[in-house]
Amino acid sequence: MLPMDFGQADVPVACDTCAEGHTGVVYETIIGGRLQWVLDYECEGSPIEAFGWDRSPDEYRQAILDQSGTFRLDVPDAGGSRVAVLKALRDGGVAWVDVAGGLDALLDEGIVGTCAELSLLATRLESAGATVAVVRRADAAGG
Ligand SMILES: [Zn+2]
Repeated sequence: MLPMDFGQADVPVACDTCAEGHTGVVYETIIGGRLQWVLDYECEGSPIEAFGWDRSPDEYRQAILDQSGTFRLDVPDAGGSRVAVLKALRDGGVAWVDVAGGLDALLDEGIVGTCAELSLLATRLESAGATVAVVRRADAAGG
């Protein structure tokens, strides 16, 4: 069963077992406070599943962004503690967030990612006392 709320994407899968490629479905979910990505496909009638943690491989992540939408995390109020917010951003499981540009830039511009990534990050930031909102970006990339 797929958690539709975080989005999913059809992706081409190169197959080691047979000569043909396959079309797989990749999706992201949140388990135990970590992001898990899952790839499901079928080869010669047998279901095959691959998965990993914290950040989807780039081609899968991009497919999810393209097919399920890009989301943005707005932080209208960082709360009382910048230290707590920074810690939430740097904690394991959200390693894809680039904090090198500085906290203010992140808070001003919002943080862009997949729905699952930002939902996970929103939970962490709320625990740190920030006020956050995850919104779907209306504008398509390059459009
Ligand atoms: Zn195959």
